[in-house]
Amino acid sequence: MELSIRNVRKEFDRFPALEDVSLDIRSGELIALLGPSGSGKTTLLRLIAGLDFPTSGAILFGDEDASRKSVQERNVGFVFQHYALFRNMTVGENIGFGLKVRPAATRPATADIRRRAMELLDLVQLAGLENRYPNQLSGGQRQRVALARALAIEPRVLLLDEPFGALDAQVRRELRRWLREIHDRTGHTTVFVTHDQEEALELADRVVVMSQGRVEQVGSADEVYDRPNSPFVYSFIGESSGLPVRVENGELWLEDRPIGLKAADAPGGRATLHFRPQDVELLDGCGGCIAGTVSSSRRVAGTRRIELEIGPEHHRVEIEVPIDHAAAQKSRVAFRPTRWAVFPASA
Ligand code: ADP
Ligand code: MG
Repeated sequence: MELSIRNVRKEFDRFPALEDVSLDIRSGELIALLGPSGSGKTTLLRLIAGLDFPTSGAILFGDEDASRKSVQERNVGFVFQHYALFRNMTVGENIGFGLKVRPAATRPATADIRRRAMELLDLVQLAGLENRYPNQLSGGQRQRVALARALAIEPRVLLLDEPFGALDAQVRRELRRWLREIHDRTGHTTVFVTHDQEEALELADRVVVMSQGRVEQVGSADEVYDRPNSPFVYSFIGESSGLPVRVENGELWLEDRPIGLKAADAPGGRATLHFRPQDVELLDGCGGCIAGTVSSSRRVAGTRRIELEIGPEHHRVEIEVPIDHAAAQKSRVAFRPTRWAVFPASA
């Protein structure tokens, strides 16, 4: 099922939790909504689900305007971090629940519901546990059951809100891979909410980066990591430094001299240069480069990271250097970014 979110705004007591969000979700894709806490991810997911309605704008399921339709009419499945299973029902009963509560006309026969629950239990690799109660399962197993329950109704769209958020790191990583496999086998259009960039980049076909109720960028993991389109995305995904510079005559300047980077298309004036620690070349002398004083040095796996203080205002940036680099405190180090972006300074 293709989804189209068109100019959606959602206010709570006049406070806009979402401002003019537009997004097309392709049929069968696994898309991640990624953003810090409060950026509007859950609100957007709830609007897609039909648990809440937009203040303005529309949500289309295929060609059909679903904006005012109920959860049942939309036929969506969800798993939330704390969407607990029914404690007084067995695993099998939990999975069959969505089918059992259907109106008589569309409700499958009891034996069929049971068969479907068994198939799903197999799919989520929990065969044999149908008679257990939720409190007899681990956290990871419970979320697998929750997914099976969401799939039981053959949803048109699967919505997952930080489903692994309460689990420890190791289990999270396992379930991430497991979910990707299930998705590749079942092909449900899936929207996955997370604030964990590693989870989003590893799991999703495309990532929607959100901030303050807006979509900042939509792209593959490579696109949002390698070509961030805003200072926010640069700083939120991966590591980066931002250094205040000036654009003059299509060149970047730091204080009173150019630093050897051309920016023909950038508007003149104050700007911020963004780059990642590993995307730099070290230089000997400094004609047309950035030089700073080492303020700290730390070992990060197979590399060394040094923090440099730059200029009279002591702007701090972090760059990666070879492991055998002396990087003595207070020594001078010169470098130039090899991959970077410059954005106009915000007023
Ligand atoms: P996220 O899931 O990205 O952490 P949310 O969508 O939960 O963000 O929230 C976005 C913003 O909307 C937050 O500022 C939050 O406080 C606000 N908000 C969400 N739900 C409600 C609500 N029911 N009433 C009032 N404010 C809400
Ligand atoms: Mg949330």
